[in-house]
Amino acid sequence: MKLLIATRNKDKIIEIREILKDLDLEIISAFDIPGMPDVIEDRDTIKGNAIKKAEECAALSGLLTLADDTGLFVDALDGAPGVYAARYAGENCSYKDNRDKMLKEMNGKDNRVAQFRTVVAFASPTGIITTAEGKVDGEITTKEIGTGGFGYDAIFKAVETGKTFGEMTQTEKEKISHRGRAFRNILPKVLEYISS
Ligand code: IMP
Repeated sequence: MKLLIATRNKDKIIEIREILKDLDLEIISAFDIPGMPDVIEDRDTIKGNAIKKAEECAALSGLLTLADDTGLFVDALDGAPGVYAARYAGENCSYKDNRDKMLKEMNGKDNRVAQFRTVVAFASPTGIITTAEGKVDGEITTKEIGTGGFGYDAIFKAVETGKTFGEMTQTEKEKISHRGRAFRNILPKVLEYISS
């Protein structure tokens, strides 16, 4: 049986494949399906976007599908960029543009509390089956620390390790990350569905 991971983000595919490696399913990504359109993420919550992506991709591919959406919620910025984390510095901006904007907006702020949240949605071609969430608490650093990972990794220091995601190995990050937790939380539900 095949399971589609509804993303074309290579960084995320690497992380998700690692998390799902023990599942007795053939994991394929949006890259493996010719003509798969990009789903427009226009909902105002990460859960809304995850469900939309999972439902559309499952219907188009005819496969069981997992889709995730992540937000970065910064207390001192009233929860921004939240669901808009990808385009924080504007349409077509780079990861570096987003990090630079975040460091600028947070310049001089004492409260640096932040949280990454991911929602994963699991859908069949006929509709949504279930969702799961994962969170990690941290703080926005005052400068980039570490060169690993992607996105905001170099400026997000996890409370649990005292290190930025950019300083962690893939394995260290996956153990505590929002996405790692969300995918591990949905795993039992996927297993239950495929064995029923
Ligand atoms: P997405 O919904 O998973 O595509 O995430 C939206 C945006 O959040 C991405 O474009 C990244 O900028 C950021 N992001 C998501 N996951 C991570 C992560 O694990 N580390 C750092 N940044 C992330």
